[in-house]
Amino acid sequence: MSALLEIENLHVQFRLPQGLTELVTRKPRRIVKAVNDVSLTLKQGETLGLVGESGCGKTTLSRAMLGLIEIAAGRVRFDGDDVFNRRRTEQLALRRRAQMVFQDPYASLNPKLTVGQTLAEVFKVHRLCPLHQVPTRVAELMERVGLSPELEDRRPGELSGGQCQRVGIARALAVNPELLVADESVSALDVSIQAQILNLFLKLQQEMGLTMVFIAHDLGVVWHLCQTIAVMYLGRIVEIGDAEAIFRTPKHPYTQALIGAIPQMQADAALNANLLAGEPPSPLYLPSGCAFHPRCPHAMEVCRSGAPPVSHNTRLVKVSCHLYDKEKR
Ligand code: SF4
Repeated sequence: MSALLEIENLHVQFRLPQGLTELVTRKPRRIVKAVNDVSLTLKQGETLGLVGESGCGKTTLSRAMLGLIEIAAGRVRFDGDDVFNRRRTEQLALRRRAQMVFQDPYASLNPKLTVGQTLAEVFKVHRLCPLHQVPTRVAELMERVGLSPELEDRRPGELSGGQCQRVGIARALAVNPELLVADESVSALDVSIQAQILNLFLKLQQEMGLTMVFIAHDLGVVWHLCQTIAVMYLGRIVEIGDAEAIFRTPKHPYTQALIGAIPQMQADAALNANLLAGEPPSPLYLPSGCAFHPRCPHAMEVCRSGAPPVSHNTRLVKVSCHLYDKEKR
């Protein structure tokens, strides 16, 4: 399989608005390093789960993948073409080939439009088919995402959260994209509805051969949906590779803590001693060395000064942690 998306040494930074302190002291505006030196490759038809706590840079990375925000350094290629070095017409073409499904199913829809109008609008704006075919295409799309035909005349306020999210997915699929980025697309839903929407993503991925990036803060939500998992902490990928291998034998202490925090189904399951303690530091003041060292139970002296290199810990997984320095191949 060829690579659909290639990211090389990507950096994304945000300059904060000038506050009173900077005005008085004439200091420069502060910079948030949201994505730091991220590299990854996504093959055609592959599903990548991007996990980590809120504010770790997952959403910023996904927007940079689609060329929706400015980058500070690095390169993003979609199907071999540089995403940030395109003419406007090429940018628009990319928008059709790569679509996003958002977190809040209600906020992402126009409250004044019915389901049918919302979906029909996409076919009309992008001129995807002759006008007389639009109603048929809308009906097919609704069926594909499991929306019954009688919902066509309802507005978002008359739908459940799960139904709204199905409309959001249908709208993204209308342009027949190759890449679908789902940004925390189930986190606002009830647990039982989450499972239904995850199954829908799985079905669509298999039926349409979609390449998918699935963003979540809960590793338990993504591991059975994705072939590859990338774990992010404060803007960096700390572990990446085969989803099964990472879930069964996580290497990085942060990944171990995330998995330890997944609720166990068995009533007598032992409590995991690796539960993640404290909040991540502010990305404004990144700790020296390994950014995870203030929370890591295995932190050593070397972790406070030197950022760990990315080691090829096994054939299936790469990990960035000094614990595996000697295992580099
Ligand atoms: Fe912990 Fe050190 Fe590994 Fe960072 S590099 S995760 S501080 S052991």
